[in-house]
Amino acid sequence: MKKEWGKNMVILGAGESGVGAALLGKQKGYRVFVSDAGQIQAHYQKELEDSAIDFESGKHTTDKILQANFILKSPGIPDTIPVIKQAIDHDIPVISEIEFAAWYSNASIVAITGSNGKTTTTHLTYHIFKRAGYDVAMAGNMGISFARKLLNRDYKIFILELSSFQLDGIKLFKPDVAVLLNITPDHLDRYQNDMTAYTESKFRIALNQNQKDFFIYSADDQQTLDYLKVHKMKAQCMAFSINKDKQTDAWLDHENIFIQFNKNIFKMPLKELTLQGKHNVYNTMAAGIVSRIYEIRKDMVRESMQDFKGLPHRLESVATIGNVRFINDSKATNVNSTWYALESADAPVVWIAGGINKGNDYESLKTLVSQKVKAIVCLGLDNRHLHEAFSNRVDLLMNTQSMSEAVRMAFDLAERGDIVLLSPACASFDLFENYEDRGDQFKEQVIQL
Ligand code: ADP
Repeated sequence: MKKEWGKNMVILGAGESGVGAALLGKQKGYRVFVSDAGQIQAHYQKELEDSAIDFESGKHTTDKILQANFILKSPGIPDTIPVIKQAIDHDIPVISEIEFAAWYSNASIVAITGSNGKTTTTHLTYHIFKRAGYDVAMAGNMGISFARKLLNRDYKIFILELSSFQLDGIKLFKPDVAVLLNITPDHLDRYQNDMTAYTESKFRIALNQNQKDFFIYSADDQQTLDYLKVHKMKAQCMAFSINKDKQTDAWLDHENIFIQFNKNIFKMPLKELTLQGKHNVYNTMAAGIVSRIYEIRKDMVRESMQDFKGLPHRLESVATIGNVRFINDSKATNVNSTWYALESADAPVVWIAGGINKGNDYESLKTLVSQKVKAIVCLGLDNRHLHEAFSNRVDLLMNTQSMSEAVRMAFDLAERGDIVLLSPACASFDLFENYEDRGDQFKEQVIQL
């Protein structure tokens, strides 16, 4: 649904979503001005110049920004910066790129959010739809922005990965199918350390849904269940669980995943899934429910789940050297994702962890660490939190400040049959550009051993 606010559009933040929206805005006849307080990356500057879009880099010129009929704020920018506060005082609507892009799409929308598993579930869902021959596109948090994807044409179906920050900026955006995978502590620094605020933000995915839409959630996620106890959803709810006594729409016995939709049961043997690990059972159930809602044939869903290739940096097997297995889980930037990595380990672990701590509470890892971890190689500028949490659980905690040092140290500490697991539970920006850089460096160092 399109809002008629006028043609002056200001975009704050010139990353993937900001630039995508600027290009789409220009194409749709808006007067676009892009403002970024940081340095805009050269390739994005070039795209703006090539499309004759007015922009500024390294500052926010308030007067110019406040001439907007509406402002599009990139998800990385908090609401608390002065220019946003001023815009709100001037009654200028502030929205996200997702809201804007949705004005220009007639697609049926599947939107996927959660603290962990978004990218995996989005890719798996897309893979199933694509293989089934649907006119489908994938966009959002994982890479190409929704707006950019619409520059060439619209699609019949969009599979969107959405972060809570992107959901904070929606007003009328309404997915036909919304998936909320889980809600565990992450990014709490942006939500004043308030889990309720973070939870509300995730549930915005269902804000505008009605009875014709579907809301898919995990019946094993306490935070989700607590919210649902006090908030009634308008959409048709479908739940998944690995506990078969819970009577959900998707469940698990020892060897199979089951999904029931319209009294029709789909069965998938666990051992045939390419995505392994308990967390991936959840992701697979979610993608499976979505596929069944769109009536994709069961054998097609099954085959797609059998040949889906997992994504890099998520429990990725790198190599086995001297009978030591190296696993890259660099994407584990919070405690919960590391929990699943440790939980899935079937041999003693030398654990490489650390980085920028986003207010981590390590309590939930302590038992697993006692059971499975023989040594911790801390890889960060400040490793105090790890030492405080685990020094009485593990005999060896070593400090390192480069990937080459960490990999070498971990290899020295490992014995035949062990696993060296990079699953940091922290953001990477103290020593690396991003989690991909961290994972790539890990792989390079392992190969050089
Ligand atoms: P996101 O896009 O939400 O960050 P990813 O699919 O990129 O999620 O996975 C991020 C990390 O979380 C990886 O370390 C992965 O192994 C782990 N993970 C994936 N799915 C889940 C899940 N359902 N629950 C907990 N951890 C998960």
